[in-house]
Amino acid sequence: MLNQKLEHANLNWNDNGTPTSEQFDDIYFSNINGLDETKHVFLSANKLPNRWHNFAQDHFVIAETGFGTGLNFLTAWQCFNEFKACNPDSGPSRLYFTSFEKYPLTYADLAQALSQWPELAELAKQLLEHYPSATPGCHRLNLQHGEIVLDLWFGDIHDSLPKIYCPIGGLIDCWFLDGFAPSKNPDMWSQELFNAMAKLVKPGATVATFTAAGFVRRGLIEAGFTMSKVKGFGRKREMLAGEIEYHRAEEPSDPFQRREAPQCTSNKATIIGGGIASAATALALVNKGWQVELFCKDATLAQDASGNRQGALYPLLSPNNVNNSELFAHAFEFSCQTLRQLAHHPIRHDFCGVVEVDYNEKSGKKIQRIIDTQYPTTLVKALSAEEMGKTVGLDIGARGLFYPNGAWLSPSDLTNALIKEAQDRGQLTLHLNAEVKEIEQNQLSWQFSCNDQTHQADLLIIASGANQLNFAPLKQLPIYPVRGQVSHVPSTEQTSNLSTVLCYQGYLTPADEGMHCIGASYGRNDNSRAFSLEEHEENHTKIISSLDNVNWPESLDFSGQNARVGVRCGTRDNLPFVGGVPIFEAFSQFNPESSSSACYPNLYMLGALGSRGLCTAPLMAEILASELSGEPLPVSQAILALLHPNRYWLRSLKKGRPL
Ligand code: FAD
Ligand code: SAM
Repeated sequence: MLNQKLEHANLNWNDNGTPTSEQFDDIYFSNINGLDETKHVFLSANKLPNRWHNFAQDHFVIAETGFGTGLNFLTAWQCFNEFKACNPDSGPSRLYFTSFEKYPLTYADLAQALSQWPELAELAKQLLEHYPSATPGCHRLNLQHGEIVLDLWFGDIHDSLPKIYCPIGGLIDCWFLDGFAPSKNPDMWSQELFNAMAKLVKPGATVATFTAAGFVRRGLIEAGFTMSKVKGFGRKREMLAGEIEYHRAEEPSDPFQRREAPQCTSNKATIIGGGIASAATALALVNKGWQVELFCKDATLAQDASGNRQGALYPLLSPNNVNNSELFAHAFEFSCQTLRQLAHHPIRHDFCGVVEVDYNEKSGKKIQRIIDTQYPTTLVKALSAEEMGKTVGLDIGARGLFYPNGAWLSPSDLTNALIKEAQDRGQLTLHLNAEVKEIEQNQLSWQFSCNDQTHQADLLIIASGANQLNFAPLKQLPIYPVRGQVSHVPSTEQTSNLSTVLCYQGYLTPADEGMHCIGASYGRNDNSRAFSLEEHEENHTKIISSLDNVNWPESLDFSGQNARVGVRCGTRDNLPFVGGVPIFEAFSQFNPESSSSACYPNLYMLGALGSRGLCTAPLMAEILASELSGEPLPVSQAILALLHPNRYWLRSLKKGRPL
């Protein structure tokens, strides 16, 4: 069984109040003044902020070995803000900071370590607010409306570096080498690591480190950097700084896995949709400087799957599948982050926690596997039957799991808030009552008619839920509609005590305005939207049979026949489809010599969110917007492959099966 909980840093505090590591027997930063040390060693020696004046790209990427207390990150963020305040119209618009950490600090230690820098207090507060659980993989924090993007890769840097997707032009503009002293932390200073770092750089990238050790200098030279010794910080005589003229980025060996920025002539993107997928994509694109037009067929947003009164937000953990679990755990935390950042909009929600009940043998085994996997308790913890009753506020008569940061939320409020935020932050044109009938390729762009007008899209994204199958280029994709009906039932004296979302074979939400949502039916390949009495009764039967040790579910009043139907878009593997739309003919008449990615030019999709769109939509949108902008991607290459819309056809080709 894989342990998904990383070991935290074991800290002591020396007489100067500087944190020291028990694992490495070394200090995190200088005893004299860590902040001044960072400015000297990492900013000045990397020619920051001066380099930003003439920097041609819209985003700048700093990468760091060893996140530690985040002091370097916060100092770089502060420096970037000061630069933008003086130079609002020049230099990059966004700062990416990609950092690697094998032993993440606990929240409490991080708060204590950062409390000694009053000048960074405001930024530290934001970091702490979104500081993620200690699970391996990339955690993306979008700070300051996405102007500052922190990618925290938790895990050993040797495992993480090869997982990063590097575009053909390179990824990183500047390296901060900040492992503990080479004598105490030798694997942070290995030739293998220097070579891996050099593979990811853009031409002209720089590097700086506090150490002047000869083997580090020689190793970096061997990796391709030109190195020199410069004056060290404080009493230190020397340190190292350098740059690299060329880079060794190799083309991704598999053309089908490419995630390169598209060749389009403008920064205008058109989206077809109107639910949470399209709204999250619109905001992610606007935050990265795109102008967006959104076409929605209905008179208001969120009329289909994203229109339920309440939905449950929690991760789908599958302990036997590390990548799937990482994807859902990190998507869940990103979704929570998004919800917190939209708190100034009216979104009905409650971070009340979500409980998963052990209701039969199969669910019991799954729950036991999750318990055995030992995820961090900030993500999920085990509850005995007694603890369950106390946590939920109602007797359940079974044990289970508790996701303490889980929530219920109104999907339509969230959709509207995402759109409003995008409108407030940049250029978003919203067309309602605007049904797009068919799309046609016109060389590199796309053409469609809507309300008797012809529109041209340089870049087109289809995020229209179950309806995406109606568009010719997507017709062959292995996705399908899944009808779902949620029942609305009045709360009783007893059920009004329910204080968390309760998941079993279905789910029950805490009462909102006197009503619970009890979901949901699952009708594969059913696109119908009429009320079904059978499904309404099935929702009742499911809660009675799942919670068969208690009587209160029987007294729930389903007589009102009050329900809502929506149609999800599903896939067999329960994973979203995010990225370029693959060309069916290119796969059915496959040419192994081809180096083409076999996708339509400038046509993308975000869909197949199945029953988990509230958890996945924001991170999927962030992935797509990052790909389209040529900016660092917030998940591993393995996860990108799991999300690619070509994955089923690729697997069939590899196994010699028909598509
Ligand atoms: P949709 O919300 O369906 O949006 C599609 C949009 O595209 C619509 O606005 C539509 O107007 C527009 N559109 C379609 N065709 C066109 C066209 N030709 N031209 C212009 N516009 C078009 N997820 C959870 O995470 N937790 C839950 O508890 C949960 N419960 C659910 C219960 C039910 C009954 C259902 C149905 C779903 C549930 N889900 C839940 C899943 C979640 O709601 C979906 O994954 C998510 O809403 C899908 O969002 P979407 O934007 O992809 O699709
Ligand atoms: N930059 C940090 C700051 O601003 O506080 C200080 C970094 S501290 C000197 C070095 C960090 O490297 C520690 O947090 C340590 O846990 C981390 N580290 C050591 N070995 C590592 C490895 N193999 N992979 C990833 N991180 C590692």
